[in-house]
Amino acid sequence: MRKEVRPEYKEMSWITFHKKFRREEDCYSFLYTTRWPNGFECPKCKGREFWKISTRGLYKCRMCNYQVSITSGTIFHKTRTPLMKWFMLIFRMATSKTGVSINEMKRELEIKDYKTVWTMAHKIRKAMQDRDAQYKLAGLVEIDESLFGSSTSGKRGRGAQGKSLVIVAVSMWKDKKGEEKPGFAHAFVVEDASADEIEKVLKRIGYPDKESEIIIEEIRSDGWRSYQTVAKRLDIPHSRAVLTKPEDASKVLPWVHKLISNTKAVIKGPHRGVSQKHLQSYLSEICYRFNRRFWGNEGFHRLLFACLMTETITSEQLMTK
Ligand SMILES: [Zn+2]
Repeated sequence: MRKEVRPEYKEMSWITFHKKFRREEDCYSFLYTTRWPNGFECPKCKGREFWKISTRGLYKCRMCNYQVSITSGTIFHKTRTPLMKWFMLIFRMATSKTGVSINEMKRELEIKDYKTVWTMAHKIRKAMQDRDAQYKLAGLVEIDESLFGSSTSGKRGRGAQGKSLVIVAVSMWKDKKGEEKPGFAHAFVVEDASADEIEKVLKRIGYPDKESEIIIEEIRSDGWRSYQTVAKRLDIPHSRAVLTKPEDASKVLPWVHKLISNTKAVIKGPHRGVSQKHLQSYLSEICYRFNRRFWGNEGFHRLLFACLMTETITSEQLMTK
């Protein structure tokens, strides 16, 4: 990821979106102000003066003649699909509560090839995933794991055949009335529910970039022994919500369970089930939107910026992932 200068995020409804983006040039000029909020800067010599070589985002530095494409180093690199179609898909993925169906978008965007739309959606998901990796969980964190896949139940502690084990964590904070509210959330596919795997997840979500100290202050789980082991290892207080019946999990760990059941519904719904290989991308997409649920109409602009901050992934890389 490159050093970022963030634009001032613009609010955009579906109506204003359509008013603003009528031609390809409109999309390119919005991409320009989003990628370079302070104007053009040559990546070679830092020159600020340029010639515009084409209306499709090609610029040439006046100082050193270096040519810069506005889409290089972004998910739009070498795309043959019009930006307008990309923008529409980004808008829908940023704002739809349940995620978009590829078949539906294929019709709406008038793209003949299913794989083209599928690949675009995965590139956007990658941008979401990279962006969300910057969100850390602090304070009290509710944590639990769940099996994703077919409906037969598997043994705890390991993924059953054809299923994936997912750890979900939600940070909690207290409002003025002292009521607990969910903050950020993360969900990761893990090998098993061993202490080592849980420790990896906690370190990934609870270590800020440059510091060596974990910022999670307490974990709350159903008391599964791996959580107790990790809490001791990392020296984090651990509160056990003791369950008499498994059905009670949603009462004592309400937010984690709400997120798990919503995620399962989304995956069964518009996506009609996803392969184990790509499950993590869908989990990241769902958490990305959950973590930005209070930003309202800035959703499109924020996601567009995330798409500009991330190197692309090719369809070959996606297939062999
Ligand atoms: Zn230059």
